[in-house]
Amino acid sequence: MDWQEQLGNSVTSLDELRARGFHLQADREAFPMRITPHLLSLMDRETGTCPIGRQFVPLPAELEWMPAELEDPVDEDRQAVAGVLVHAYQDRALLMASQVCTTYCRYCFRKRLVGRRPPLLTHDQLEQALQYLEAHPEIREVILSGGDPLVLTDSQLASLLRALRQRLGDRVFRIHSRVLSTLPSRITEDLVDLLEAHGVLYLVTQINHPREITPQTREAARWLRKAGIVLANQAVLLRGVNDSVETMRELCLSVYAIGIRPYYLFQCDYTRGTAHFRTTLQEGRAIIKGLEGRMSGPAVPRYAIDCPHIRKVLLTADYCTPRDDGTYLLRNPEGKELIYDEPRLIC
Ligand SMILES: *Cc1c(COP(=O)(O)O)cnc(C)c1O
Repeated sequence: MDWQEQLGNSVTSLDELRARGFHLQADREAFPMRITPHLLSLMDRETGTCPIGRQFVPLPAELEWMPAELEDPVDEDRQAVAGVLVHAYQDRALLMASQVCTTYCRYCFRKRLVGRRPPLLTHDQLEQALQYLEAHPEIREVILSGGDPLVLTDSQLASLLRALRQRLGDRVFRIHSRVLSTLPSRITEDLVDLLEAHGVLYLVTQINHPREITPQTREAARWLRKAGIVLANQAVLLRGVNDSVETMRELCLSVYAIGIRPYYLFQCDYTRGTAHFRTTLQEGRAIIKGLEGRMSGPAVPRYAIDCPHIRKVLLTADYCTPRDDGTYLLRNPEGKELIYDEPRLIC
């Protein structure tokens, strides 16, 4: 079966999931559901406690909203050019290249849009985004995200990348996609050739639990790296999925072992209906502290939160505290301290 047939065989309703023998707690969902056969094969029957099931199967809690949760938790709607290009940071911009995903994550911060719009950018949306990017040469990198850009067919993706390359010259292209976890068969030889031909340099994956790393995922990562594409992983810290030092260490070391560098660990955004996924910042910081200095340095991700107005902010404990006399107190992950005597070290 090729990837499009596999995608077509995804489960899109609770009844269908139940008919396949999975145990569910919810009788309706707050936004679209889709789960690929690949993920279904990794899922326990008891979906509410399964680290895969919890990410993708609706729970009754997703219908409950905390007062401080928001529909658009990073305030993108007001900001987006033609509804599809977000320029939140000086030197990089994010294009929602597709409006659908292979599988819908229940904690998604763009669930107000994703899966609810036509899958493809309209000609007009793309044209407005291109004009904006042309007018802003300070944008050095264009991130294709979504939705999942790799839901597009090879020919759709080729024509998008061709237009971006022709109009934008030598800017860096980065793709954010979840297919290495949700539909690894999408990483075909043709796709890899196409990405290489259009100079896609980086691909950022999203893998949240070690069980998502299958032999197919490893193979897909190997092909991408062979084409010179640098891989990094963004994970989301999710209660009941990966909120322990042990699971997070295993996740980070497992993605690292297949050539994917752990990049961000995101605090779960305050999207409506996600309170059951959210940990405290203290728990998140304790997890990072349990990793830092205790495992391969490049395998430790940066713990960050994304908020309206201020956007991404690192949440890692401060290992360096300025003191009144111009010196600094440095503290290593084990708590050993040293005064860095800067006034006597710089002339
Ligand atoms: C996360 C994000 C980026 C990329 O940020 P990096 O720190 O470079 O990974 C760019 N634009 C938007 C709108 C984002 O949300």
